[in-house]
Amino acid sequence: MSAVAEQTQVLADRINALEESSTLAMTKMARELAAQGHKVISLSVGEPDFKTPAFICEAAKKAIDDGFHGYSPVAGYPDLRKAIADKLKRDNNIDWKPENIVVSTGAKHSLANVIQVLVNPGDEVLIFAPYWVSYSEMVKLAEGKSVIVEGAFENGFKVTAAQLEAAITPRTKVVMYASPNNPTGAVYSEAELREIGAVLEKHEGIYVLADEIYEYINFTEEGHFSMGSIPALKDRVITVNGVAKGFAMTGWRIGFIGAAKWIADGVEKLQGQVTSGTNSIAQKAATAAFNGPLDATKEMTKAYARRRDLVVGLLKEIPGFKVNVPDGAFYAFPDVSYYFGKSDGTNVIKDSDDFANWLLNNSYVSTVAGSGFGAPNCIRISTAAADESLAEAVQRIKDAVATLK
Ligand code: PMP
Ligand code: GLU
Repeated sequence: MSAVAEQTQVLADRINALEESSTLAMTKMARELAAQGHKVISLSVGEPDFKTPAFICEAAKKAIDDGFHGYSPVAGYPDLRKAIADKLKRDNNIDWKPENIVVSTGAKHSLANVIQVLVNPGDEVLIFAPYWVSYSEMVKLAEGKSVIVEGAFENGFKVTAAQLEAAITPRTKVVMYASPNNPTGAVYSEAELREIGAVLEKHEGIYVLADEIYEYINFTEEGHFSMGSIPALKDRVITVNGVAKGFAMTGWRIGFIGAAKWIADGVEKLQGQVTSGTNSIAQKAATAAFNGPLDATKEMTKAYARRRDLVVGLLKEIPGFKVNVPDGAFYAFPDVSYYFGKSDGTNVIKDSDDFANWLLNNSYVSTVAGSGFGAPNCIRISTAAADESLAEAVQRIKDAVATLK
C-alpha cells in the first residue's frame, strides 16, 4: 500500500466519507490551469466580482484604529446582533431580539452549526434539490440522513408542498432550502412558501433551515419572502443569512442565524468550544453593512440581472441545451444531458462531471458539474463576472460542444 493510502486510512471515518466541495475543487483546478498560463475564464465559484462598498471598508479600518483587537463575545458583538435584529425586522418581517441572533464565520458556518445542534444520528433532513453542494455533506458530518426532494425543471426547479408532504416521515427533523437558490436561481414566491409552511405547521417536530444568503439578489417584482415571518412557524424556522453575496463580502466571513433562543443558545455553546466569536474587524464591517444604505447592493443586483439576461439568451442558442430562467442569485444551470454519450473523437462525455472537466481542459472555461448539487443532467455557470468574459465563455462552450458527435 502506498504511503498516502496508508495515511488516508488513519484519517477519521467521517473525513474519509466526506466529499470534497465541488465548487471549491473546480475553482482550484481553474487556478492551477491559469497559473500554467492558460487563458481560463473561471465561472465555477459563486462569488461577486465587485469590491465591498467603501463605507463598509471604512468601518473596518476604524475598528482597527479603535482597538477592536481582542476576543469578541462568542455570539457576536451586541451592536452587530442588534443591527441584525433590526435588519430582520426591516427586510424580513421577522421579530427577533439580539439574544436570538448568533454571528458565525460565514453562512456556511451558520448552517453547519445548526445541523450539528439539531440533528441526531439517523435523523432525516429533507433537502430541496437542486441544492448547494455542502448541505448533504454537513448532514453526513452530523450522522444524519439526507432525503432529497427534487424540484422539477418544468416547475422552475422548485419543490411543491405536495412533494414535501409525501417525503415527510416520523424521522424527519429538519427541512432545508435556499431561496433564491444556488445553483438554479429559483425563487420561491410567498404563495409557494405559505403552502409549504401550511404542510409544516401540521408537523410540530420539524424545523426549517431557511438559507437566505441570496436574499438581495432577487429579480422578481414580488421580492423576497421569509418563511420565518409566518407567525405559526416562527419558533421552528432558523433563518440563515450573511454579508457574502449582497454586500460582496465573501472573504470577510460573517454569517448569522435568527432562531428561537434555545437553538441560538445551542449554537453559541457549540461555537464556544470550537471557534469562539468570529473576527472582530469583520464584525464591525458587517455592523456598518446591516445599518447602512442598500444602494450599492441594488446596483450590483441590477448588474446580475443584466448578466442573467445575457447568459441565458446566449445559452439558449446552443443546440441541445435546456435552459431555465433564474429569478435570483448569480448562476445559470443549463441541462446539458443532450451531450451525454457523445464524443470529441477521443473523450466520451458520460455525465456532468465529464462535461465540466472536458470543458475546463479543452476550452478553459470552469463551471461546476450538477452532480454535486443533486442535478446530474446540469452544469452550473456563475454569472458573477464581467459581461465580456461571460459572452466569451458561452461562445467557447458553444464552439466546444459543436465538436461533439
Ligand atoms: N448558502 C448558499 C446557498 C451559498 O451558495 C453559499 C455560498 N457561499 C453559502 C450559503 C455560504 O455563504 P458564506 O460565504 O457566507 O459562508
Ligand atoms: N457558495 C459559493 C459557491 O457555491 C462559494 C463556494 C463554496 O463555498 O462552495 O460557489
